[in-house]
Amino acid sequence: MTIAQLVAQTFCSPTQKQWYTALAAGLVVSMAAMQLTAAPGPAKAGPLEIVLVEAVPVTSETISKWKGEGFNAVAVVLEERTSKSAYDQLARRVSDGGLDLYLWIEVARNPKLAAAHPRWMAALGMHDDWQKNFPNFPEPGIGEVAKAFPWVPIGYREAFDAHLARIEQLLQRAPPGWRGLLLNDLQAGPSSCGCGNLQCRWAIDYQVKPTAPKLEGDDVAARFVAEVRRRVADKKVIPVWTTECEDVDLPADKHQGRPGTGLCGTVGCATGACPEVFTRQWSGLTSGHDEPIGLLALHTALRRTQKEFGGGPGWVTNAVAYLDRTVPGHGGKNVPADRLWVVVEDTGNGEAAAAREVAAKAGVGAVIVARAKIDQSYEPRMVPAK
Ligand SMILES: [Zn+2]
Repeated sequence: MTIAQLVAQTFCSPTQKQWYTALAAGLVVSMAAMQLTAAPGPAKAGPLEIVLVEAVPVTSETISKWKGEGFNAVAVVLEERTSKSAYDQLARRVSDGGLDLYLWIEVARNPKLAAAHPRWMAALGMHDDWQKNFPNFPEPGIGEVAKAFPWVPIGYREAFDAHLARIEQLLQRAPPGWRGLLLNDLQAGPSSCGCGNLQCRWAIDYQVKPTAPKLEGDDVAARFVAEVRRRVADKKVIPVWTTECEDVDLPADKHQGRPGTGLCGTVGCATGACPEVFTRQWSGLTSGHDEPIGLLALHTALRRTQKEFGGGPGWVTNAVAYLDRTVPGHGGKNVPADRLWVVVEDTGNGEAAAAREVAAKAGVGAVIVARAKIDQSYEPRMVPAK
């Protein structure tokens, strides 16, 4: 019996009965709506808490310690230096300890690939503000393009294929039983317009001469993730994304004289093309399915440490707020907070607890605490423009 029928049966006057039936039907509808907005139920218990580590040997004591710290899962960096048997052993320990296992692959930041194929490296765009961070570095000469070593974005055709092939190879050493694969750095390289900000990731070859054929469209990362999904059947593939330059990074003369982080030098990219392109890329990645999406919120690695400008361990809330503000503001559709898997860092200085706490309060689906070093830096290198 439905609630509507039950309520109707309880009251006897025909008009009352009609009225209560309508009221109860409305109640059922609104309860259903409440259940819809409250779903999924278990998320209320708090986010999934994942510790992200390098592939070093772990003991059962390590696993117990992680459990004691409130972690339900371990994410391990999948890379070439660790053998299949070492990953198998780690996976067994994790599983014996009752924790879930995820894999993390660093995609674009790849010194070996960058050294082997300098032409595929990310360009520092046309603005020369990045140069103030490298005062001893010579300016690019005629016929040279400045690149961000060791970043090899998937946005070039050959690099796209090479990264896919590398992931296929890495997966051969993946241990059994893993639940999901996190793919970090699927955007363009840091300082992509040349402003100097590590988080300026929207552009490939911004007004500079390309040194490799690039892939067109704002859905390159979405296509890449789809290719990886085809290779892992029923497992989750979670792209990890970085937000772009913010208003607080604008130079004072482009921000009503207000002081700022200085991260974008003299460039006003935070209010230019970057939020629009960001929204298109983000939407390509998040639409058409309900899979989680990662948000890289490493306050130290991304130089978000100035407390007066929202930096420090609480910066993760600004990364989430960037999405809330930018995506709907540029014609995109926001994803619910519980689809976000945010990555905060534990640099061992005691700030991680605060970052975890504010991330959990934001209602995200998972908090990944990086104890592995997730480097976001670059060094300029010159490459002949052919
Ligand atoms: Zn920029």
